[in-house]
Amino acid sequence: MIKVVDLHKSFGSLKVLRGISTEINRGEVVVVIGASGSGKSTFLRCLNLLEVPQEGEIYIDGVQILDKRVNIDRVREDVGMVFQQFNLFPHMSVLQNIMLSPLKVKSADSKKTREQALELLRKVGLSDKAEAFPRQLSGGQQQRVAIARALAMQPKVMLFDEPTSALDPEMIKEVLQVMKQLAVEGMTMVVVTHEMGFAREVADRVIFIDEGVIVEEAPPEQIFTNPQNDRTKAFLSKIF
Ligand code: ADP
Ligand code: MG
Repeated sequence: MIKVVDLHKSFGSLKVLRGISTEINRGEVVVVIGASGSGKSTFLRCLNLLEVPQEGEIYIDGVQILDKRVNIDRVREDVGMVFQQFNLFPHMSVLQNIMLSPLKVKSADSKKTREQALELLRKVGLSDKAEAFPRQLSGGQQQRVAIARALAMQPKVMLFDEPTSALDPEMIKEVLQVMKQLAVEGMTMVVVTHEMGFAREVADRVIFIDEGVIVEEAPPEQIFTNPQNDRTKAFLSKIF
């Protein structure tokens, strides 16, 4: 579903990604870990063209998205993203937030779009909040709306960049539960998170990024109990 070949991204003279290559299969859940500033967000943002790398290739479902002829909006429809800050539109109801992109981009008919939005709200456990405004919701509820909003475009891939880092502890679980359900249903997911419990339980593979390169990637039980690389060991010893 995703193939990345020798990705390089710099900001001015700062080399952030220094040759990232990996492949992610359809339905696979990959958790990305690494120290702050190691390039995790930049990597994710390249996958939906929020950042454009200077070098490398990115294929999403067979399409080389860095090809000049590729429509960026089309790529973003296929690759949904959820951020640490939920970024909901404050002046719109929950339902309007979810319906906005499908109505605009896919010019879908509004009755069907509304039904799909309500179905997504059911999925994230917020059926009763359709008419609420973001400020009336808890952080955990807002993040679940943000997930529903991303899903409304029927993406092929979902990217999550520290989706629970801005949440109070008691709300983390409800968001992780929605993500877990999505994984069970077969969504291809790339998740940057510090929630190692989630990684252990849900990830098929964990990627450790250090200074812009993938230092180690392995199934969670292997990387957590028997990391091979010294830098992986050092990082994990700090967080456990
Ligand atoms: P992580 O998500 O692993 O914490 P980031 O990918 O956000 O790391 O950032 C990696 C490095 O790139 C950091 O040093 C950060 O300051 C820098 N960086 C990220 N985005 C930009 C940008 N738009 N302009 C300049 N520097 C950036
Ligand atoms: Mg980050």
